[in-house]
Amino acid sequence: MPYRIFFRRIRRTQRVRRKPSGRKEYLLHRESARVLVMERLTHFVAEYTKLDPILGQSMKYNRVSIRNQRGRWGSCSSKKNLNFNYRILTLSPELRDYIIVHELCHLKELHHGESFWKLVERVIPNGQALNVQARRMKLG
Ligand SMILES: [Zn+2]
Repeated sequence: MPYRIFFRRIRRTQRVRRKPSGRKEYLLHRESARVLVMERLTHFVAEYTKLDPILGQSMKYNRVSIRNQRGRWGSCSSKKNLNFNYRILTLSPELRDYIIVHELCHLKELHHGESFWKLVERVIPNGQALNVQARRMKLG
């Protein structure tokens, strides 16, 4: 391989490696994200319990993790573990709450069917509009 091409390749690799991974940022904000998420989860479980105590009972989660994941704001596993992106801190309170309620509702409805959206919209009436907004927000 000609020397100059080889040299350019090396430099490109180094440039990629030097790019900040975002890990420092993540570690810096993880705990404040956790405090916020836990506070809002408690608040919304109470809201659903007020509407229907049995429904509130069914919204029991196991572990809550704050992650540095690309491409998603949150997720819910079949083992009832909730995951949230620490960048939720950068969203408006309205969008943050929507994402938290979205994952909370997956504890009851693990799909995006009509019954899922009905459940979300009992507490966040413009849930589907906020879903469109959240998808447009850049992650990472
Ligand atoms: Zn979902």
